[in-house]
Amino acid sequence: MIHTDINNIEFEIQQIYSDAIEKKGIHIFVGRLDKINSIVSGNKFFKLYYFITHALKNNIKTIITKGGYYSNHLIATAYYTKTNKLKSVGIIRGEKPKILSNTLRECIHHGMKLIYISRDDYNNEIIIQSLLKNDFDNFEFIPEGGFHPTGAEGASLIMKSINEYNPTHVITAIGTATTLAGLIQNNSNQAEIIGIPVLKGLNDINERLSYLNNQSIPISPTIFHNYHFGGYAKYDETLIKSMNDFYTLHKIPTDFVYTGKMFFGLQDLIKTDYFHKGSRIIAIHTGGLQGNQSLPINTLVF
Ligand SMILES: *Cc1c(COP(=O)(O)O)cnc(C)c1O
Repeated sequence: MIHTDINNIEFEIQQIYSDAIEKKGIHIFVGRLDKINSIVSGNKFFKLYYFITHALKNNIKTIITKGGYYSNHLIATAYYTKTNKLKSVGIIRGEKPKILSNTLRECIHHGMKLIYISRDDYNNEIIIQSLLKNDFDNFEFIPEGGFHPTGAEGASLIMKSINEYNPTHVITAIGTATTLAGLIQNNSNQAEIIGIPVLKGLNDINERLSYLNNQSIPISPTIFHNYHFGGYAKYDETLIKSMNDFYTLHKIPTDFVYTGKMFFGLQDLIKTDYFHKGSRIIAIHTGGLQGNQSLPINTLVF
């Protein structure tokens, strides 16, 4: 994907139907960010947008970022930089594994140089910055997952298309909370913003939002902490069955790390009458489907 003007990016907003939805008298729409690009899928395109804009404008040639073995952010960065003739470096959390994950192989395939760093040093900004200064001169650093006000500013543009649908509620999965911060920035319809953390014990969301939105939290989101299925990238049969059923009914694929958990939460909230009659709920499909490749084959029906 070359660096298209973000104002021209459109994504499909798809209404979905089921007996459960009809019975409650509500309307559910899915914001298909997963369909923007098969590699820079979903919210990653929005979060990276202004970092790449800044690098291109300032003649910076190298983008450096961080991530784990299965990071969607790393792949998105590798591909997005490659197509814009920028170099990329990925700092990887942990030793080089004997067998590279599909994610890491894809990153290498897209020309990303990988540097493995011990789990202890990985979170030490001073060590990382001094390592980078020694090896690279003209580079831009993107924090892990785009967790930065610049990432949130890009994510806020997701709401432009969403607002036209006059939602009463907007729901998203939460990793770093950068996407969530963007949604609350640009919520002209004053919809209730609902977040589903996919990590266990993510208790500092308000601090994150205040950093990401430069100390302002225009609207407090509603957070449901009970849909993480044991923690980041953890899953069980209930989650897998829910993803398979959702696909069979709506033909929308989801991933087991983020969107599968968000849609499970959404359906549970519908079942337990969280939404009043007439609600217009937009669920953001943030992409991430490549992550399913780390599941055993035949786990999913899609
Ligand atoms: C990275 C990612 C998220 C998390 O977004 P944050 O902005 O970090 O909260 C959600 N869904 C998918 C599919 C992702 O890849």
